Amino acid sequence: MSDKRDYYEVLGVNKGATDKELKKAFRSLARKYHPDKNSDPGADDKFKEIQEAFAILSDSDKRAQYDRFGHSGPQMGGGFSGFDIRYEDLFGSGLDDLFSNLFGGGGRRSSRPRQARGQSILVRKKIPFQMAFEGGSEEVSVDTFLSCDSCSGSGGATSDDVEICSTCRGQGQVTQTRQVGPFVQQTSGICPTCQGRGKIIINPCKDCRGEGRKKKKQTIRFNVPEGVDTGMRLRMRGKGHVPPQGGIAGDLEIELILENHPWFERDGAELLMSLPVGFPDLMLGRTVTIPHLDDKPLAIKIPANSLAGHTLNIPGRGLPNGRGRRGDVIILLKLHTPKKPSRNLKSQLESLKSDLSIADDDLENSILDEAKDRRS
Ligand SMILES: [Zn+2]
Ligand SMILES: [Zn+2]
Repeated sequence: MSDKRDYYEVLGVNKGATDKELKKAFRSLARKYHPDKNSDPGADDKFKEIQEAFAILSDSDKRAQYDRFGHSGPQMGGGFSGFDIRYEDLFGSGLDDLFSNLFGGGGRRSSRPRQARGQSILVRKKIPFQMAFEGGSEEVSVDTFLSCDSCSGSGGATSDDVEICSTCRGQGQVTQTRQVGPFVQQTSGICPTCQGRGKIIINPCKDCRGEGRKKKKQTIRFNVPEGVDTGMRLRMRGKGHVPPQGGIAGDLEIELILENHPWFERDGAELLMSLPVGFPDLMLGRTVTIPHLDDKPLAIKIPANSLAGHTLNIPGRGLPNGRGRRGDVIILLKLHTPKKPSRNLKSQLESLKSDLSIADDDLENSILDEAKDRRS
């Protein structure tokens, strides 16, 4: 019925092999053929074959059945997903990277303990306004829990000092069965002995006191995209805290706060500013030049007969709008008057008054004109 190889043959052991011999054979074969370590085209299939053989032979019931019926036994079907290998039992706590990968590709999902996840960190970082224009690179210093070097995060003084929790047999979960009338009620919950970690530390690592992690100051560089604004958050996966006794590190989130520009306010890609100008400049016109974010001077041309309170628009000199273009610079003209005019200036203005001011009998008309302008 099946052209499968004999399981004993696959593992290279004889029919009378003890549990210990099986484990030993599986361990060395799995290391050799794990797809992460072995790129040969046949390694993947070989690895599956090894896993399947071990899953059957390490289970005394299934092994007995296999011994009697071979591959055509009643429980032999169902493909590999039906097998259940406890990698923790097999490799203890000294799991190296290879075998922590196995958790992802190995036995049934529900049969392995939930991977603990470390806390995420949120930091706020002020960045110069210039970055809104051209982006850049910044760094933050964060106190982060990192895996303890002395115990590689296990929390045990040696690898023998971490044991599989006997209450939950490493599952991190316990299932209680209760008879309720005619029903059998099953409840499962976090194992109280190991708090769901599946491991017990007998002799804690001195360096981290069994926590498996230590706080260290980390400097993390990150890139800020152009067009950035206050409140933007950058998420860096796995740069947060490592959970106690190993697991998946949390994330680092950096909330950016854009510092104020000395004179610009920002509205999306638009830059707004007020420009104080004297009355003669409004009347006669003038060009003023100020330094700008793009390193090219910003020339503001005030046309003759400009009005205070009106705005000038300089297109394409604002911030990047995210669509390959730049917004505008919008300039509000404000009338500047000397705070302490000299006696001389006052007398000169007095003589210009009839030309510059509005005569009493014209006042009502000019109010009307102004209102018309405003409403048009
Ligand atoms: Zn340690
Ligand atoms: Zn437990």
